[in-house]
Amino acid sequence: MAKRSIRDLALKGRRVFVRVDFNVPLKNGVIGDDTRIRASLPTIQYALDAGAACVILASHLGRPKGKPNPDMSLKPVAARLAELLGRPVSFADDCIGSAAENAVRSAPDSGVVLLDNLRFHAEEEKNDAGFARALAALADVYVNDAFGAAHRAHASVEALVKLIPEAGAGLLMEKELRYLGEAVSSPARPFVAVLGGAKVSDKIEVIENLIPRVDRLLIGGAMAYTFFKATGKPVGKSLVEEDKLDAARDIVTRADQRRLELLLPVDHVVAAKIEAGVPVQTIGVDDGAIGDRMGLDIGPATVSAFARALSDAKTVVWNGPMGVFEIDAFAQGTIGVARAVADVKGTTIVGGGDSIAAVAKAGVADRITHISTGGGASLEFLGGRVLPGVAALPDE
Ligand code: ADP
Ligand code: MG
Repeated sequence: MAKRSIRDLALKGRRVFVRVDFNVPLKNGVIGDDTRIRASLPTIQYALDAGAACVILASHLGRPKGKPNPDMSLKPVAARLAELLGRPVSFADDCIGSAAENAVRSAPDSGVVLLDNLRFHAEEEKNDAGFARALAALADVYVNDAFGAAHRAHASVEALVKLIPEAGAGLLMEKELRYLGEAVSSPARPFVAVLGGAKVSDKIEVIENLIPRVDRLLIGGAMAYTFFKATGKPVGKSLVEEDKLDAARDIVTRADQRRLELLLPVDHVVAAKIEAGVPVQTIGVDDGAIGDRMGLDIGPATVSAFARALSDAKTVVWNGPMGVFEIDAFAQGTIGVARAVADVKGTTIVGGGDSIAAVAKAGVADRITHISTGGGASLEFLGGRVLPGVAALPDE
């Protein structure tokens, strides 16, 4: 069911609490990538344009384990956000109590306040009601724009929502739910899923949830080797999850019963080590010449087959690189598939931290319809799970 949106809320003259996902990579106070900050700008700007008295932003960053830790302070984010917004951002040293209350009270009209890391309090991850009440005291309206944090029942996305009746989804949250929601519930067809990456175990739920929904399932990356081992192909020293062989066989059987096209690699790039500069060879996946080497990328025949399977797609969901794309010698398969996904004339959705990096490396990020910012959350959503932070929001 659709969730109430920030666009349905009365914001004028009110203090608007926005749970954002500012969990950015941070090293020695320097922000490595500000994509997540940028992704929240439309919601912040919307609240300001709607006349909010004050926009209060709260996020977690890293894993400080319930204690203040200067290395995980959001202070550098306040500075970056001020630059991006083109207006001052006041920073509160604590997300609750007098520091937070004073920052909100002394903010100018239409001011923006960023609270420090929610996870400096252990109560955040415990979904503690008292902590939620302290957050609720700061605001009149609640907006959740942190899709990337919606899969955990933490105080700022769960307990807090129940305390502020005027609540809804931010614009980024809405966009994530619309694209991912349509893909799983009413996709334009053919619907093709491309799954890869390191482990089958990370993505079994996603595969199982997608099997009844997709027309074609393309599997590459290290994940493919558990399938190969399960079907008796030579895998050498490739990554195999021995305890997932039955699961892989079961997936093959179910795909067969549903008559969906399950495509696995037909050729691959093998090498003795995961290292730049080592000798590589491209061979068929039935070829015992793999010896005790590892399969580290899909080969060109597989790229062609996958590109063909994508060519008439109307909906594509892609999660997980096709090989060790971090090393150029094993990146061509992922880059080829990224181009094929970008060429699709339909809705294309890419999720997962490494997949997003791979799409950027292939130079096609701007030709993808929707790049999902929530790694774990998008996987859980595609796996058919109810996200607590979404469930907590009032229905439309
Ligand atoms: P995402 O972050 O997009 O969800 P994953 O984290 O599941 O993706 O997988 C990405 C990782 O999988 C990358 O570090 C990549 O090097 C690795 N990988 C992909 N294919 C292979 C392979 N054949 N052998 C070893 N590692 C692989
Ligand atoms: Mg990853």
